Amino acid sequence: MRLYYIAGNWKMHKTVNESVALARELAARLSCCKEKVMIAPAFTALSEVAKVIEGTNILLGAQNMGPEEQGAHTGEVSVLMLKDLGVKVVILGHSERRHTYLESDALINRKVRLALAQSLEVILCVGETLEEREGGRLEKVIDTQLCEGLAGVDGAALDRVTIAYEPVWAIGTGKTATPEDADAVHAYCRKVVAALYGEQKAKAMIIQYGGSVKADNAAALMAKPNIDGALVGGASLKAESFVPIAMFR
Ligand code: PEP
Repeated sequence: MRLYYIAGNWKMHKTVNESVALARELAARLSCCKEKVMIAPAFTALSEVAKVIEGTNILLGAQNMGPEEQGAHTGEVSVLMLKDLGVKVVILGHSERRHTYLESDALINRKVRLALAQSLEVILCVGETLEEREGGRLEKVIDTQLCEGLAGVDGAALDRVTIAYEPVWAIGTGKTATPEDADAVHAYCRKVVAALYGEQKAKAMIIQYGGSVKADNAAALMAKPNIDGALVGGASLKAESFVPIAMFR
């Protein structure tokens, strides 16, 4: 039986004080939530948010990390620094990292392997652009992003990986894939995982959907057999919109 896993990606939003206020409200309102819940504030707010959610049922996530443990890498944040702050999960391969900051599958894979080697959990984001979908390349894109993103990850480490299917055309646009369309891609992701790691690992893999998830579409998406949760951007920035998603059932 797979868990439902709801994660909030706060992106480049909120001061430290604003982040602490939202984390406090979520900790109070989600204390009876049955699902696995993670929030990923900006790096600058991690330390204070960590104090607020310590001992609660909310996990602390980071939105990215550098591919090296330490060294001369101006502007990067290392996995060791994240662990030091109490981070348990890191989001890697987000489409904004892939498309705006031109992160390659090879770079994302280095980060995935490093995060797992340092005992973090990883949310590996995959997803196609509208052009790729309309050009009939959806499966090829997903296949490449999963195979290259997971290269060198063994079956034991895979247990700490969650996949987030996030069609790029649905992120922050208000357009959502229909539950049926999303479920079909999730099923394809599971097929790729089965080919790489076997049926049992594929069945156990938690696959979140991301792309304009809101309170009014969350339940329909997560009712689908292959959709095991949500990675939420815009709607995670307010308790009024995030709590109903996390408490969708
Ligand atoms: C995201 O950034 O991962 C995301 C899904 O954003 P939004 O919910 O705003 O579409």
